[in-house]
Amino acid sequence: MNSASESVIIALTRGRILEETLPLLREAGIEPLEDMKRSRKLVFATSREQVNLLVMRGSDVPVYVENGAADMGVAGKDMLLEYGGEGLYEPLDLGIARCRLMTAAPRQAPETGARLRVATKFTNIAKRWFAEKGRQVELIKLNGALEVAPAMGLADAIVDIVDTGNTLRANGLEPRETIAEISSRVIVNKASMKIKSRLIRAILEQLAAAVNRRSD
Ligand code: AMP
Repeated sequence: MNSASESVIIALTRGRILEETLPLLREAGIEPLEDMKRSRKLVFATSREQVNLLVMRGSDVPVYVENGAADMGVAGKDMLLEYGGEGLYEPLDLGIARCRLMTAAPRQAPETGARLRVATKFTNIAKRWFAEKGRQVELIKLNGALEVAPAMGLADAIVDIVDTGNTLRANGLEPRETIAEISSRVIVNKASMKIKSRLIRAILEQLAAAVNRRSD
C-alpha cells in the first residue's frame, strides 16, 4: 500500500472537547507540532507523519468525516444525534466532555395543555424526541441565548446541554427530562475504514487503551 493511502486526517472539535482530546491523542502517540489552542491555523502536522489534524466547530466534524474530507473525527454525541450520520462509523466513546441533553423550563412553571413552544439549537433531536412522546410542540431554532428565551417570552421551554445546571439556575430555569447522555465519540468515514484499515484500527486501539487507562 502506498504512503498516501496510509495517511489519515482527523477532524477535531475546538473548545473544551479539544482540550480533553489532546491528552488522549498524546497517549496514542499523536502530538500536534504546534499549539493548536493558540494558533489560528486549521490544519496541523503531528509527531506521527501519517496523521494530520483539523480543528473546527463540532457541527462541522460529521460533515467533513461523512464526506471523506477527513477520515476520522471527534465530536460530541449531541452533534452526531443532531446530524444523524448514517454514513459514519462510531467505534469509540472517549468518555470525555460528559453532559446531558435535557429539556428545561422556568422553575415551577405548570404544564399547560397548550402547545409548547420549545427553543433549541438541536431541532432534529427535539423534533424526534417530542414526536416519540406524542407531544405537539412548536420548535424555535436559536444558535445561542437559549436560556433567556423563556424569560423573554419567546419560548415555554428549551432543549439544551446541561453539565452542572448552573447556567439553567442562573436564568431561573430547572432541568426537566433527560433526552440523551452525551460524551465525545470517535467517528470514522466508512470508505476510509476499508481503505486505510490498518492505520485507522491502530489509532483506534491506541485511543481505546488510553481511555481504558483513565477508567482504571
Ligand atoms: P452548566 O452551567 O455547567 O450546566 O453548563 C451548561 C452550558 O455549558 C451549556 O450552555 C452548554 O452549552 C455548555 N456545555 C457544558 N458541557 C458541555 C459539553 N460537554 N459540550 C458542549 N457544551 C457544553
